[in-house]
Amino acid sequence: MSNKKKKSRSGKNRTSLQDHKKVGKQLQSGFAVVADKVTFSSWSNERLPEMIWAAVIRVVDDQDYAISEFRRVLSFIGGHAEKERLSDISISGIAKLPERLREEFVGFILKSERTASALVVLSLFETLPARETWIKFLPEKAPDVSLLMDAVGFNLPHQSQEATDCRWLRLMAQVVSGKFHVPREMAEEWFGYPYEGDLQKIRPSIRASEIADNPFVKKDLTWPNAFWDEAWRASPCLALIEEKEDAAGSAAKLSWADLSPVIDGLEYHWSSTHSTTAIDARHDAIFGIAFYAVRVLGEMTSAGVGTGILGRLGLRTILEAHISLRYLLTKDQPELWKKWRVYGAGQAKLNALRFDELMDAPKHIDQSTIEAIAGEDIWEEFLNIELGSWSGLDLRKLSEKAEVKDAYDAHYSWASGYSHGTWGPIRESCFDTCGNPLHRLHRYPRLKGLPDTVFDAGLLVNSVLDDLDKAYPGFSLRIPNVELMSE
Ligand SMILES: [Zn+2]
Repeated sequence: MSNKKKKSRSGKNRTSLQDHKKVGKQLQSGFAVVADKVTFSSWSNERLPEMIWAAVIRVVDDQDYAISEFRRVLSFIGGHAEKERLSDISISGIAKLPERLREEFVGFILKSERTASALVVLSLFETLPARETWIKFLPEKAPDVSLLMDAVGFNLPHQSQEATDCRWLRLMAQVVSGKFHVPREMAEEWFGYPYEGDLQKIRPSIRASEIADNPFVKKDLTWPNAFWDEAWRASPCLALIEEKEDAAGSAAKLSWADLSPVIDGLEYHWSSTHSTTAIDARHDAIFGIAFYAVRVLGEMTSAGVGTGILGRLGLRTILEAHISLRYLLTKDQPELWKKWRVYGAGQAKLNALRFDELMDAPKHIDQSTIEAIAGEDIWEEFLNIELGSWSGLDLRKLSEKAEVKDAYDAHYSWASGYSHGTWGPIRESCFDTCGNPLHRLHRYPRLKGLPDTVFDAGLLVNSVLDDLDKAYPGFSLRIPNVELMSE
């Protein structure tokens, strides 16, 4: 956070993470700036709660204020007659001190009025070790929760400047108390921190040494666990402010009204290219796929569909129609057009038989319609029912043969996850990362709008219309503006 270095000591100099705004029913947080940089480590999970008092001091004002406060504490330890007892300045370590020494130390930390009033936030924690000692020396005023959020938010990334400063303090307490012996040269480098020496070198050396815990002492995670638990219960989930521009909000919208000229044009072109009342599998397939794709796109333009789950299913369906049509046209064989059609009729027959013989049809099935589809081309008895795909190939193979593998790769996999309801799409559409740093970036349920699918779908529909125009020339209408919108 190098952009937050102003020198004035008056008022708040820090850039707050938590200028949260209320947007609709939600509180939004600016934690996104930092959230990207967090990888969880034993610092963030375990030692940050132990050093929370230092982390709060670190965000009261700028780095200079914190370092001067930290140095004040370090000279107290270094000059104390029982300094070796003061080597562990964690919350739990302080709680283990004999009462007299504990009161002396906590009283000393809280001697600075500004520091003391910031540390009132510690009183929020019912399970704070040695709570009574802290309370005894804390001023009586309301805790500033946003300060606690800043303290945790800026210190969560274990390599941030803030975290490094707090880790330096923890380490230096061990050095000045005589618990941690280091070569003189190294100690001098650490003493000069952060104003002297090569920080590029010193910072990593501080962090590496701060990690070194005694492997023979069993870790006690009672307080860190209690800290995260209480922090979670005591404060609300916040929505992260979206940094990305919302495609749906910025681009022009597509509506049914934009599509109706295309549909009218398709109908007109259909009748002017329709030469026989005999079965023409090629003509029906090409126009049928085009009408179907435009209709799906039209439904996707309804409010909330393109930016929702159903939009993904629509996109996937249009993709499949596009690949099938391109494949059919690449081959352009009468038997293949017929095969495609017979497959569909076979599916109708399978369903007609099932609902006639085995079970009642569900509400959305119109039995007489599917009976008619099953029987309208050839006599039902001659119709074989294909159980695989219509082509005998999977869609990936089909896309390779039709040379539209790029479209397949771009759209198929993630959209298919939506139709199968797998974790990735569920995570994307139904959960969000909480922007409250006190909640450690957990996920919470949030049915948020997704990036709009209408423009990608519009491009695919235009490919379908290109194909139709190639097969039956003279059709120039396209879905308007999608090239522009999807940029
Ligand atoms: Zn939360």
